[in-house]
Amino acid sequence: MQYYSLHHNSPKVSFSEAVIKGIAPDKGLYFPESITPLPSSFFDKIEKLDPTEIAYQAIKQFVGDEIPEAELRNILKDVLNFDFPVVPIEENIGTLELFHGPTMAFKDVGARFMARCLEYFNKNNKNHVTVLVATSGDTGGAVAQGFLGVKGVDVVILYPSGKVSDIQERQLTTLGNNITALEVDGVFDDCQDIVKKAFLDTSITEVKQLTSANSINIARWLPQLFYFMFAYKQLKNKEKDIVFSVPSGNFGNICAGIVANKLGLPVKHFVAATNSNDTVVKYMKTSEYIAQPSKATISNAMDVGNPSNFIRIQQLFDTNFEALKNSFSAYSFDDNLTKKAMGDIYAQSNYIADPHGAVGYLGLQQYGLQENEYGVFLETAHPVKFLDIVEKTLNITVEIPSQIRKVMNKDKISTSIKNYEEFKKFIVST
Ligand SMILES: *Cc1c(COP(=O)(O)O)cnc(C)c1O
Repeated sequence: MQYYSLHHNSPKVSFSEAVIKGIAPDKGLYFPESITPLPSSFFDKIEKLDPTEIAYQAIKQFVGDEIPEAELRNILKDVLNFDFPVVPIEENIGTLELFHGPTMAFKDVGARFMARCLEYFNKNNKNHVTVLVATSGDTGGAVAQGFLGVKGVDVVILYPSGKVSDIQERQLTTLGNNITALEVDGVFDDCQDIVKKAFLDTSITEVKQLTSANSINIARWLPQLFYFMFAYKQLKNKEKDIVFSVPSGNFGNICAGIVANKLGLPVKHFVAATNSNDTVVKYMKTSEYIAQPSKATISNAMDVGNPSNFIRIQQLFDTNFEALKNSFSAYSFDDNLTKKAMGDIYAQSNYIADPHGAVGYLGLQQYGLQENEYGVFLETAHPVKFLDIVEKTLNITVEIPSQIRKVMNKDKISTSIKNYEEFKKFIVST
């Protein structure tokens, strides 16, 4: 499989090159040259397949022969060693829980898959790769955990000081080893800007092989398509049309769902549910895309004003606005609505949703499910990751799972960075 740049001004590359580079030299996102639907027999017997087999069949065309079958199956087995249950909430609504991995947010699968691919491609290469990543919350922890101890790879995580939850901060600042955390005096956009600038700065790229572990990287983005297949496997016997509502920030997760649909997965409609960062919602109303500065909300992992993967979604619909509108809707909900939804879900179904999941639930409400439809909202993080807000909103105490308890008592180690110059000094000296 070859990948081309969505800016159409760079050479095509192989899977491994796209993973190592992260982004094309013309700054475009990489996109697969073709997407070939899986045979209908795959979906006919999906309930008989285990997660590794489903994932292998779904991803193999994207990896090609660059990782041998046995190795790729091992990687997938290792990456997918936890559950992805659909939990019923209401008669025609369920939530797909994606938080049973080591950092309790859905990014674990993508981060672990990318780490293991990079490790494989790098095993005969003596030059270190530096993974540079900006995080608004959960990416940092998932990438830190996924890459911990991976040979030949150093990880540098930039996060906005005071803008991530206590648990999120501990998850990315307490591991040490090949993981370094930089605490940036600013907001997420400032972290993102530093990362973007670094990729263009030859005084850095001459001495460091940089790659990105944000969902622009195909190895972070594509494995997320497994979730939608795992949900279908569990819901198939309901014989209803499935509507997915995906709490969206950078739109990588929902975009992967649309890839699953292109592979033949039966999906009636995709709903992108956002917080007040409503760039795409406005676009769907006006067909004019205007990036905005990101706004801070209680669903902070979705505080993105210029979602990088939206261009991939447009590409999946051949940049045809009408075709996009037929299969995809976007709705935005503010913090008050989000808190109210958390309360409603708890009161009606005795289920504790985190703020991101609650935004997903609201997406289904606004969509308005029909009789023959079943709605699935993705629960992208465990409520404990947003402990303060969940406990205050629902007036409860949340039990802390062992994965999280492990980091609670560890000491934070981070370096404060005020601006790009300080960042540069740091990165070239390490
Ligand atoms: C990253 C994240 C999102 C947003 O996912 P995208 O793929 O960027 O749209 C939603 N919820 C949680 C908890 C996240 O960590």
